[in-house]
Amino acid sequence: MPESRVEPERSTPSSDRRIGGGSYPSKAGGATGFDVGDAAGPVNGTARTGSGSTHYRSYARRLTGRWAGVASPGPLPDNRPRAWPARLSRPRRSASILRLTFLGTASSRPTVARNVSSIAVQRDGRLFLFDCGEGTQRQMMRFGVGFAVSDIFVSHLHADHYLGLTGLLRTFGLQGRVEPLTIWGPAGAADTLRILIDLGGEPLSYDVRLGAVEPGPVLEEDGFRIEAFPTRHTRESMGLALIEDDRPGRFDVDRARALGVPEGPLFGALHRGESVELVDGRVVDPGSLVGPPRRGRRVVYTSDTRPCPATVAIARQADLLVHEATFDEAEAARARETGHSTASEAARVASEAGVRRLVLTHLSARYADRGGGLLEEARAVFPRTEIARDGLVIEIPLPPDEDRPVEPAHPVTDAT
Ligand SMILES: [Zn+2]
Ligand SMILES: [Zn+2]
Repeated sequence: MPESRVEPERSTPSSDRRIGGGSYPSKAGGATGFDVGDAAGPVNGTARTGSGSTHYRSYARRLTGRWAGVASPGPLPDNRPRAWPARLSRPRRSASILRLTFLGTASSRPTVARNVSSIAVQRDGRLFLFDCGEGTQRQMMRFGVGFAVSDIFVSHLHADHYLGLTGLLRTFGLQGRVEPLTIWGPAGAADTLRILIDLGGEPLSYDVRLGAVEPGPVLEEDGFRIEAFPTRHTRESMGLALIEDDRPGRFDVDRARALGVPEGPLFGALHRGESVELVDGRVVDPGSLVGPPRRGRRVVYTSDTRPCPATVAIARQADLLVHEATFDEAEAARARETGHSTASEAARVASEAGVRRLVLTHLSARYADRGGGLLEEARAVFPRTEIARDGLVIEIPLPPDEDRPVEPAHPVTDAT
């Protein structure tokens, strides 16, 4: 079986450490031309956070054989995004921009005003998609997020969350994309996702890898990681969280100068927590020059789910929780039947987790364009609530140095 063959990911940048939870089962004899590549191997051997996963292995499935080395189909069309090459090849290193663009906010089927589920998540030079409902590629054009996406995360195999893959992948090919793309999905999703990748007739001009996700870190990069967490729906589904590392504390430049530390590399070393020796032999300790670590940002997306403790756990003190709210309280029974949440249930999760901001999405078509009474119901429980709409952009600023935890407004209850 191909699982026994491990080969390095030739095109994966060294800083791009992928730590997905497992590989999909392959077809017998690798007849489809799939192969298994071990992207980077275990990073630390154990998960770094308490999301429920204590051990994981690194895999990424990649397409090889008949699709490998396929030439670009020709010159790029005129509508190629101008920023494409630079954004793909020169991601910026400063961690300052964290932006969500809601590409689709309807549940199950689109309405005139709302497309089905997808969120573009941009962090500096990186672009990810959380879900990819039908028509997502056009929403990306409408709302100007660009096409330089490196990873697409499919939360679960309900059609309103992944049917947009085929069209988007074909457009990438028409634009001459050569950079590999990774599609992450729940265990067991590979056969379905493979069909969507194959549809379209012509070979793609780039590699598409499939990664199976288990709870825990999926992708870890410089300064942040993306984690999956189990949710409670009518079929296997996962939520996703982008979690930044803590940043070093603020560096006291004036005090460093007063101590006689010359500006330059020694400043950087001290800021990283290293002691430095000056030319006169004195050793300067960083403890007196660097403030306490500053927390990183945290954004959590539930996709389709009942309220569940796993969401509360990973959304603790999050800057932003994007929770589904398919129904209002009048439809609470239907929400339970269909594995969804009401707006006030989502608000209780936000309150229990002590998040700083809640955005509701995945609205049933019955609430038309304005969200009906969902907003009022949610704000009665958690005032810092908004209703998403297609095209809504939310930027998460860096937390202030004197950041204070948010106190939960309501006691934790077991939401079932
Ligand atoms: Zn859905
Ligand atoms: Zn669903």
